[in-house]
Amino acid sequence: MTATIIDGKAFAARVRAQVAGHVTRLKDDHGITPGLAVVLVGEDPASEVYVRSKGKMTVEVGMKSVEHKLEADTSEADLLALIDQLNNDPEIHGILVQLPLPKHLNEDLVINSIDPAKDVDGFHISNVGLLGTGQKSMVPCTPLGCLMMLRDHHGSISGMDAVVIGRSNIVGKPMAQLLLGDSCTVTIAHSRTKDLADVVRRADIVVAAVGRPEMVPGDWIKEGATVIDVGINRLDAPEKGAGKTRLVGDVDYESCAARAGAITPVPGGVGPMTIACLLANTVTACCRANGLDEPEGLTA
Ligand code: NAD
Repeated sequence: MTATIIDGKAFAARVRAQVAGHVTRLKDDHGITPGLAVVLVGEDPASEVYVRSKGKMTVEVGMKSVEHKLEADTSEADLLALIDQLNNDPEIHGILVQLPLPKHLNEDLVINSIDPAKDVDGFHISNVGLLGTGQKSMVPCTPLGCLMMLRDHHGSISGMDAVVIGRSNIVGKPMAQLLLGDSCTVTIAHSRTKDLADVVRRADIVVAAVGRPEMVPGDWIKEGATVIDVGINRLDAPEKGAGKTRLVGDVDYESCAARAGAITPVPGGVGPMTIACLLANTVTACCRANGLDEPEGLTA
């Protein structure tokens, strides 16, 4: 079987175009510009790259982008004061605090100080609870992007057997909740799972979110299954020249693509969907804050 490649880059461009259309309508019909504030503490190079590209894409879809860059030794009190200010700013509809935070800051405390209605990352304990009980919430961006791709590819995923490998709060757990919400039979596998290969072989849908390069081999994949690879791992690539690297996912792409019915590549699969979903969440938050109908197809 030759797998269909699920093109996350193209899909993300479609989502961003949809978001841009909604932003134009919000501006033209209601005089409202959705605003996203991103807070970065410290100078982690990877985080700086993410924040820059989030800001660029926010502006590209016509939204207001605000970046707050704080020193690595910023106190918890100062960070909480900034979040309070953003919570009370009517021009800001989404707040994202870039993780990881420096060690002296309590991540849970910081995330839970964001107004849940502006929590476009969907990590606030209220949003976690709302998602877990099937209520309207802000949904974490990466799992939301995975769900959108699955719905787009399959139409309905109701009744399918889904295995999520990884149980993080950011990806694995919310992914499992979303699949359950769409009536899949869901198994969450993790580092202590016995016979992972056997568990994965049962799956019609495999979502890999582990952070281990190419750990899922093709012979774990049921013929025709859909494979969503969330992993982003950087490997040395001396064949490309001295000091060069390449990105790989958590699944061994070649052997999995040979058995899967559909697969997301790395790069160009889940990654681009994550920022597109952040923008989608910001428009959704803006519509909810203003008592307007929220855009269809941009949330769970
Ligand atoms: P994490 O480290 O918080 O969680 C990893 C999970 O994998 C854990 O729950 C652990 O139990 C499980 N695990 C570890 N070893 C295992 C094994 N041998 N067998 C089965 N399970 C095992 O990671 P995370 O934040 O969930 O991220 C996972 C991956 O997804 C990383 O590569 C990360 O870079 C990537 N990621 C990508 C995006 C994106 O936008 N594409 C977003 C977030 C995370």
